[in-house]
Amino acid sequence: MRRPIEQLPKAHLHLHFTGSMRHSTLIELAAKHGVHLPHALVEEWPPKLRATDERGWFRFQRLYDIARSVLQTPDDLYRLLRETAEDERAAGAGWLEIQVDPSGYASRFGGLTATLELILDAAQVAEAATGVGIGVMVAANRTKHPLDAKTLARLAVQYAGRGVVSFGLNNDERRGRALDFEGAFRIARRADLLLAPHGGELSGPRSVRECLDMLQADRIGHGVRAVEDPVLVERLAAQEVTLEVCPTSNVSLGVVDELEEVPLRRLFDAGVPVALGADDPLLFGPRLAEQYHIAREVFGFSDAELAELARMSIRASGAPEARKKEMLAGVDAWLAAPPARS
Ligand SMILES: [Zn+2]
Repeated sequence: MRRPIEQLPKAHLHLHFTGSMRHSTLIELAAKHGVHLPHALVEEWPPKLRATDERGWFRFQRLYDIARSVLQTPDDLYRLLRETAEDERAAGAGWLEIQVDPSGYASRFGGLTATLELILDAAQVAEAATGVGIGVMVAANRTKHPLDAKTLARLAVQYAGRGVVSFGLNNDERRGRALDFEGAFRIARRADLLLAPHGGELSGPRSVRECLDMLQADRIGHGVRAVEDPVLVERLAAQEVTLEVCPTSNVSLGVVDELEEVPLRRLFDAGVPVALGADDPLLFGPRLAEQYHIAREVFGFSDAELAELARMSIRASGAPEARKKEMLAGVDAWLAAPPARS
């Protein structure tokens, strides 16, 4: 007797823009714009990836870049966000934080500012159509120059309170250390944006500590390799820094070999706040609800524990307070309702 996961209100805090696209939409847009897709994105989808070495990460990035190249017109961006919001609603998400580096799209959409404005408008339209609240996380690329990150931070700050809720840092952790981006994060922090850099995915505990010490992170994208350092785990729990844990991504990118090795249970039991995320369903397959199913099936989370995971995702989100309150009440109602017979 278990409650339906799709009806549990939750927030999705780790989802990349192109990576959120439906696979069927990728195929359609590629045909429409005459973009040739490699086998790995068509017949052999989802592609077999292994990003724990430089070559594997390069291949992942290359596939991601090809997928991004099918987004050519403003209509494509509106479609992507509307469909993503529909999928989030189906998974029970009342809030979505979509992560985007506008510089990856700027050449096609009239520069950084015009691109971000387009994405913010598309997010608003998708929110109105689906009821899913959408906040945008502007994310810098750690393989580029730290000055580019500062430019993005200033742009994000201009739109704080107007759709942008958080600031992130992504791409290969082994290239570009967190400390190089201190200046950009200081700019974002002054505008009270939530700070959510990637760390502790491809690199070990040191990368997580740098996110805490240098960037004052509120949340960490992945962070799963923090478990290699028990003192760090205690610190994450004590400071209530949320880890955005994405189990299927960890397996797809070879961070762990099997789902069982994702340290979800260990982190949760140690009191570290965890928000489950899908990362890039376009390349990995599973979306948000599947992550909660994995918590239940693979890690034995009870309904009460699943409800706590949902609460942690909501509390760590950039959602407006009224929406947080409403969603948290929804979690309590979900848990209070008798489970369905199965
Ligand atoms: Zn990510």
